[in-house]
Amino acid sequence: MNFSARKPAMMKLLQQMVEIESPTYDKAAVNRMGALVARESSRIGAKVEVLPMQDVGDNIVARWGEGDGGILLIGHIDTVFPLGTLEMMPFYEKYGKVYGPGTLDMKSGLVIMLQAIEALQEEGKVPKRPITALFNTDEEMGSYHSRDLVEKIAKEHALSLVFEPCEHLDGALHTWRKGTGKFSIKAQGKAAHSGGAHRKGLNAIEELSHQIVKVQQLTDYEKGTTINIGSMSGGRAINIVPAYAEADGDIRMMSTEEYQRVEDAILNLESVLPDAVLTKHCILNRPPMPFDATMEGVFDKAYEIAKKDGLEIKAGGSGSASDANFVANLKLPVLDGLGTVGEGFHSEEEYFLLDSFIERTQLTAALLRDW
Ligand SMILES: [Zn+2]
Repeated sequence: MNFSARKPAMMKLLQQMVEIESPTYDKAAVNRMGALVARESSRIGAKVEVLPMQDVGDNIVARWGEGDGGILLIGHIDTVFPLGTLEMMPFYEKYGKVYGPGTLDMKSGLVIMLQAIEALQEEGKVPKRPITALFNTDEEMGSYHSRDLVEKIAKEHALSLVFEPCEHLDGALHTWRKGTGKFSIKAQGKAAHSGGAHRKGLNAIEELSHQIVKVQQLTDYEKGTTINIGSMSGGRAINIVPAYAEADGDIRMMSTEEYQRVEDAILNLESVLPDAVLTKHCILNRPPMPFDATMEGVFDKAYEIAKKDGLEIKAGGSGSASDANFVANLKLPVLDGLGTVGEGFHSEEEYFLLDSFIERTQLTAALLRDW
């Protein structure tokens, strides 16, 4: 199959997608993007279901065929970029790199999903097994609204392929990912005049500072566990003893045991200043995706299929999590990082390598055809 010939059509569809900006928190905007993927899916013969959502964009499920043993393609249609980003960061291609908000993460991945299916159709090589595409709308905020749907549909399929960007310039697929958690610590003290009644006050910022140092020290690079207090606030003015302070942080880990260690430590924090009150919350968002026996089996099979098609794939990992973590946590076969290869995702420098756009489409078509 000649995938290079698909380039103009792929770039055209990608430009349409990128120019419909779709920040997660803007339901109407994400729905405009949803309408485009629904229309494209229908155009190539899918039965499309739009699943209405309350607070985020509507999820979309496109199905080609029915029955067991199918392959699920997963992609999110939201981006981290607010409306208007396009003005400073337009869609364009230069020297083999493609720029624009969400080009890498992960609108090019969505194009790959659709174009791989269309390529197989044109060649009469569509497999007998069903293919399903799931387009969810809140991945960039943790998939709190779409997790159940991802898990339910993944259970109906023999393999899930996730089209998140590839973070390795050598194109290595994501065969492991860290898990992610988050926490908040609130300290309650007592307000007082800093001059006239200093002794009567209880400084919440002071209390919280002790806790922040303890929590940051839970980082264990050897085990791949990192803690990042990323924001903090408290106090109102320098002449008031602050009654309140809060810190929020992010946890990354390679194993659920490590998450448990950190959660236990945070929930068991005790105040240092007498009478200060601490409130602690800690949750695991995406569980870790280890390179386990299931993953090894999936990668080896994909490797053989790719090789027959003249492609060489590599295995790699990532410190960030994706919806693949949810699927892997159910012990279901999954492979991630099938999107384009690039750098700078979630930043103005975001770009992907045009060659990888074509190559990943070829790889996806091979996996769909030969799995
Ligand atoms: Zn993404």
